[in-house]
Amino acid sequence: MTYIDAAIEVLKLIHMNGYEAYFVGGFVRDYILDVESNDIDIATNALPEQISNIFKVVNSGIKYNCVTIKYEGYSFETTTYRLEEEYHDNRHPIYKVASTLSLDLKRRDFTVNAMAMDVDFQVIDLYNGLSDLKNGIIRTVNEPTKRFTEDALRMLRAAYFSAKLGFKIETETLKAMRKCSYLIQNLSNDRICWELEKIINSKHARMGIDYLIETNIAPYLLYFKKGIYLISEKDLHNLSWTEFLALSFYDSIVNLKDIHIKSEVLNNVTTAIQLAKGNLKNKYDSIYIFENGLEICKLVNKINVVINNLKDNSEIIEEIYLDLPIKSMSDLAIKGQDILDTIDLKEHKIIGRILVDIRNLVINKKLQNEKETILKYIRKHY
Ligand code: ATP
Ligand code: MG
Repeated sequence: MTYIDAAIEVLKLIHMNGYEAYFVGGFVRDYILDVESNDIDIATNALPEQISNIFKVVNSGIKYNCVTIKYEGYSFETTTYRLEEEYHDNRHPIYKVASTLSLDLKRRDFTVNAMAMDVDFQVIDLYNGLSDLKNGIIRTVNEPTKRFTEDALRMLRAAYFSAKLGFKIETETLKAMRKCSYLIQNLSNDRICWELEKIINSKHARMGIDYLIETNIAPYLLYFKKGIYLISEKDLHNLSWTEFLALSFYDSIVNLKDIHIKSEVLNNVTTAIQLAKGNLKNKYDSIYIFENGLEICKLVNKINVVINNLKDNSEIIEEIYLDLPIKSMSDLAIKGQDILDTIDLKEHKIIGRILVDIRNLVINKKLQNEKETILKYIRKHY
């Protein structure tokens, strides 16, 4: 059974139990655009406990009246109709159960995200979302200044949907973003980071970034503004998230305790920044590339090209890497034990040094990576 067939059965089962249920939000938008979606969201007038009497569920966000239905091996995020009242800090609303679908659609951010679809794929379109979808427009549901004051994150979401879909932001919505840009200060760095990652990873990232600059939101994205302005000034395309962070953090590795970035990504970023600062000629040789690895070297090169205006050596780095006779120490034809078995060492600690010598000779193609050849060399020289 396909995901969508299972979803239709879920809606039918909810109906059979006497409740309403619709597909809502991003799934409806993507379905109409014929974009595959792996997230089907359902809105219903049934309460979570009523849903859990029908299906096996996981209580994902019970205080938001949200449960995940497990059906035929698939998951469906299901939320009781709700409205949002009394926004705090321009971000956190108090959720209340709403009696109708139309109230639930009214609190949604953009017209293209505020459509619902029934089990027969009939679209419920109260805010002209279909027309905006057809014309490629991001427009808030109702008055934009009010919607951005309620929740400042929506401004970043507008830039994100523009980046994801390649859509233009409608004039009044854009004006309101400029007017409310200062409210971005009330968002946590972690939320900002999360939305920016989605923007950078989007197909039309450049559009989203240009909107952040045009609306004067960029200056409030403190940790990330360097990366944002560099994208625009240097006309950068297809930056990876790691590259974006490396550019953003070049001047100061900020205190990132309040941001959740994967430690592997952060380690690569910090290492590359330090290496770039120590490699202001942007030169690479076999040993350097072996020691630091392909990914880091490409990142160092990117930093040096963009920030320090140095020559792009990415192709040379790739070539040298491909040509390395060994890519890691485990590829070396001998191990420390082989050295011990071959020569009588007075001091064990020099094994490490011998291994590095051998490694360098192999990398520089002065010695073949072949066990007997290496052992013969060791017997002769140590
Ligand atoms: P994506 O493909 O990126 O997941 P999405 O439209 O599914 O896009 P989500 O962040 O998953 O976006 O949110 C699901 C839906 O919830 C949205 O389509 C929108 O209707 C509503 N929504 C989410 N965040 C907000 C918000 N801050 N304010 C108003 N409505 C929101
Ligand atoms: Mg989604």
